[in-house]
Amino acid sequence: MTVTQRADETIDRTGLEPREGTPIYLHLPFCAAKCHYCDFYSVPAEGQDVDGTLEAIVREIQLRAPRRPRTVFLGGGTPSLLEPRWLKRLLDELDRVTDFRSSALEVTAECNPESLDRDKAACLLDLGVRRLSIGFQSLRPETLALFGRVHDVQQSFAAFEAARAAGVRDLNVDLIYAVPGQRLEDWLRDLDTVLGLGPDHVSAYNLTFEEETLFKRWLDQGRLAPHPDEVELEFFWATRERLSSSGRRPYEISNFSLDGRHCRHNVNYWHNGEYVGIGPSAVGKQGLRRAGNVRNLGEYRRRILERGDALDWSESPSDGARLGETWWLGLRLTEGLSPVEAWSRAGLNPKTYGENPSAPIVRSLADQGWLEANGERWRLSQKGWPVADAVAREFLRLRDAPMGTTGALTEGG
Ligand code: SF4
Repeated sequence: MTVTQRADETIDRTGLEPREGTPIYLHLPFCAAKCHYCDFYSVPAEGQDVDGTLEAIVREIQLRAPRRPRTVFLGGGTPSLLEPRWLKRLLDELDRVTDFRSSALEVTAECNPESLDRDKAACLLDLGVRRLSIGFQSLRPETLALFGRVHDVQQSFAAFEAARAAGVRDLNVDLIYAVPGQRLEDWLRDLDTVLGLGPDHVSAYNLTFEEETLFKRWLDQGRLAPHPDEVELEFFWATRERLSSSGRRPYEISNFSLDGRHCRHNVNYWHNGEYVGIGPSAVGKQGLRRAGNVRNLGEYRRRILERGDALDWSESPSDGARLGETWWLGLRLTEGLSPVEAWSRAGLNPKTYGENPSAPIVRSLADQGWLEANGERWRLSQKGWPVADAVAREFLRLRDAPMGTTGALTEGG
């Protein structure tokens, strides 16, 4: 069983010590406004103690950031919203503590069009950021209004051009499709317009209605009508087809890149790798444990400044839970994963187990035509891609699976 610890005064940090090389996720929680579909922990900056929160994040960097991270990701929130003096303070301190400017293979910052101009892009480059991810989300004014976005379409184009003019080589554009009322042909036309800009990477997400968002409430009230499953599927395949034929390979369900331009930081998540999360609500995974900071700005500041720690929960997933999670994360990638990779990424040695509880699941999914073999690896088949969530649920059953203690890895999973 997974063991969970929750917010009391202190959570034991054993096993959560930062290790050299571990990727860093920095959560900067401020946005210009809250988007209606968003369930990330982010708040409109106006009226908040932005300086106090960022000072607490600097303190957490000093206390917890691992040396020489392989990748760094500034997410949120909207990192580009921060004034240059704050970006400088955060990134200079991060470099002083970690030496990331010489160690990181990739440093990404999430940006929104309303807060990204040429000066901001040049400032980020100067501070060691190399890759920008810009949230266009849509090219339709009515959809941007429905989403509660504060920028217009022209600002999206201007932000992209400004980043290129400043010298950013790695640029991602974030888009959302299958929006209520959206026609497939309009979406594909907009996708072509974005591709005309020449992004190195595109993240194209099927709209989802997350709990505790305005979108979910509107859905429950009948004010928003999602597309039927078969129409969402048409969007999915047409999107893959259009992006693939533009030379952007689908390396994950929602992510497409030119050769070598995939997001290394995110691939580490899908490999179920370790990472350190810093900032309000940030989650980290180290060794066999996972833990997250408190989702409340005042509480985050108080805990960091008074106790030097803002952890609100931690869990130690069972062997079965880790194995199941490794499978469903790895199957999101086009390359899939082998049974040996699944066991090793889950931190398990198959030789010490008598039974391999993932093997029957893999076999049954292959029998249904949802998984296919690719050399040593298993990956989602053509039929399996659209039902990736159902495949994930199958592997989550491993959470409570009994794990034997002798024998060797059996064939098939
Ligand atoms: S800008 Fe991004 S993080 Fe902020 S509310 Fe909108 S979707 Fe969420």
